[in-house]
Amino acid sequence: MTHNSRRISCAAASLVFLATFVVTGCDRTPAETRHRFTAMGTLVEVTVFDHPAEAAMEAALEIETLFLDLEYRWDPWADGELGAMNAAISAGEDARPGPDLAGLIGRASELARRSDGMFDPTVGALVRLWGFDDADRIPERPPSPGEIRRVLDSQAPLPTLWDAVDGILRGHQGVTVDLGGFAKGIAVDRAVALLRERAIDNAIVNAGGDLRAIGRRGDRSWKIGVRAPREGGILAAVDISGDESVFTSGDYERFFDYRDRRFHHIIDPRTGYPTLGLVSVTVVHDDAATADAACTALMVAGPERWPAVAKALGIRHVMVVDADGRVHMARGTEARVTILDEGALPVAIRELQ
Ligand code: AMP
Ligand code: MG
Repeated sequence: MTHNSRRISCAAASLVFLATFVVTGCDRTPAETRHRFTAMGTLVEVTVFDHPAEAAMEAALEIETLFLDLEYRWDPWADGELGAMNAAISAGEDARPGPDLAGLIGRASELARRSDGMFDPTVGALVRLWGFDDADRIPERPPSPGEIRRVLDSQAPLPTLWDAVDGILRGHQGVTVDLGGFAKGIAVDRAVALLRERAIDNAIVNAGGDLRAIGRRGDRSWKIGVRAPREGGILAAVDISGDESVFTSGDYERFFDYRDRRFHHIIDPRTGYPTLGLVSVTVVHDDAATADAACTALMVAGPERWPAVAKALGIRHVMVVDADGRVHMARGTEARVTILDEGALPVAIRELQ
């Protein structure tokens, strides 16, 4: 039986718990300024604490402009910068991206190398074949094995195409770069940089539940809720402090179920099929872009290999949920996580090796 499932646009993917309300603050320094907008297919919320409201709102509006600009520039399929580059390389022509996009491709190529190809933005053609390229449309059934094989055979890993010395991306018939696996993280990092430039030191930039928090809220550090991947609701609360990011990838964000199997938007570049084995991966890391790329990569790495790939990416704090609903954590992560789901099985601890 085929049944479509609506796209869960991840406002529910993880929730920020605010442990307490700020009780200090004077007339000219309001406790909290909040701005919400939709960008990159998700609800983005910028919350600034203990900063004059007018300046805080001005910064938040600039962040909205920043997100919308990046959304357009980095759309793999439209006529922005990335779309134009893709039109060239997929036709076999070399491309020389501008400095900003070149920086991103270089960083993605490095992440692809370190993750042993688990994170690789050259999955664009496969993402499109599976029908996950259009946020407004959810496919009903998988492509045929023959189609998957044909597209898979025309792919090439990003590190083999990117010439970092000359800043050239080699053309390769049928290859499309899709930065969706870490674009949101990059945007969140840039938003935080913008806040810092304006001397805003206490804030959260939350893009559909994936977020980076800086500073504090009053005298409390942050507690971040992580969604239970199947039941909804909150699986766990993660403590973060100072300046940290919490990102989650899961098979429940964009998916369809077909003949009792879940097919979703994270593709294993080795097989051409959506990943199997893990239903969600949560990563805590300093910068948002690495956290974002890492949780996508660890979904691909699966139940056996995620500790090794986390280590290779320099990630220390990881929580994964396997297909049986069991929670596994990297050693040390358990000290920062409270499991809130009372029915959950005991947590399995893994060494990162
Ligand atoms: P995320 O939700 O951060 O895990 O990113 C998923 C998005 O990244 C998908 O919608 C694709 O656009 C893209 N993607 C899918 N599979 C991969 C992969 N193996 N490596 C890099 N990006 C991917
Ligand atoms: Mg990601």
